[in-house]
Amino acid sequence: MSGAPYDPAARRDTPLALKLKERIAREGPIPVAGYMQACLQDPEYGYYVKQPAIGAKGGFVTAPEISQVFGELIGLWCVAVWQQMGSPNPFNLVEFGPGRGTLMRDALRAMRVRPEILSCLRVILIETSTTLRETQKAALAGSGVPVSWIGKLDSAEDPKLPAIVLANEFIDSQPIQQFVRTAEGWAVRTVGLDPYGALVFMAGPYCAEYVARDLEQRFPSAAPGDVCEVHSLEHEFVDALLNQPSKAAALLIDYGHPATQPGDTLQAIRAHRHEHPLTSPGEADLTAQVDFAQVAGGLSGAHTAIDGPITQAEFLGRLGIIERASKLMSANPARAAEIEAGVARLIAPTGMGSRFKVIGVRSSGLNTLPGF
Ligand code: SAH
Repeated sequence: MSGAPYDPAARRDTPLALKLKERIAREGPIPVAGYMQACLQDPEYGYYVKQPAIGAKGGFVTAPEISQVFGELIGLWCVAVWQQMGSPNPFNLVEFGPGRGTLMRDALRAMRVRPEILSCLRVILIETSTTLRETQKAALAGSGVPVSWIGKLDSAEDPKLPAIVLANEFIDSQPIQQFVRTAEGWAVRTVGLDPYGALVFMAGPYCAEYVARDLEQRFPSAAPGDVCEVHSLEHEFVDALLNQPSKAAALLIDYGHPATQPGDTLQAIRAHRHEHPLTSPGEADLTAQVDFAQVAGGLSGAHTAIDGPITQAEFLGRLGIIERASKLMSANPARAAEIEAGVARLIAPTGMGSRFKVIGVRSSGLNTLPGF
């Protein structure tokens, strides 16, 4: 939860703030999902369109940027899953939102323990940002495997191949819908203008009856004033996992909570600091905690099963993170302290190790995925 207080004096008239204010004056308040979409993906001013966004120089640091061990363990996980699928050749290794390409680079390096897998796979990166695509291209230049970039999975050359799908900190960057439980009923939470023309959260139009019924079922404990969140996963993402004629397995890692509960989790981070989500539209990273119960519900179907959620610490522990780190430290004594600190951060019981959760999605013909 952001907890960042809304300090009106801190509100910044970023170019996107001005664009949104004009739009709101013309069309009325925008639902929170539309606001989040604009902040992240506006073609002129969106955060992922304009900024380097990730890594020490960007606004926030992700697990693969903290330690190479993260991507390496996921690479070994891919090898085990591929074998579990019967070693298909060819198959697609898909990553949603690959950021700087670090996870994929480290994973492919670790996969060299079974060189034969490298001649069977085609890497498909699903990325909207043209800047980040360039960074990914540079990161994977020496990988020796075919890599292609697409905006949507259904535009892949052969989307029907068996697939292993990875997504780290991707779902938290997808727009969420917010609703407010008022004394009179459920309303869409929107962003409008206050009497001074500044952006402000509002309880917008009341929901249609079927939406209100659905919300009542999802959030039976919601009290008047509570904000509740619903993930609107892109259909391409859901399709990639559910409508696979061949075998597929996915690993989704994100920060979030295991059970559905009311709460406003929208948060903004700019230059490593939390701020209120309305402070710097387009210049801060906006994310929402992942409700793993909702996501698992949305991804389980007649042909899929879900493993987890479990915590990142449990998952990485079962994949042997301690053993892997020790080996790496003995091989690189000069970097031992750095390696140890990175790994400790990934599995910290009061930090990333418990805040981040992992679920696996698999074709129902496959056994429980490794690590779960
Ligand atoms: N997985 C990376 C980066 C996470 S940040 C890491 O762990 O470091 C989110 C990533 O998803 C960015 O690369 C962003 O450009 C991309 N992204 C966000 N929304 C997207 C969408 N709808 N389709 C494709 N890529 C998207």
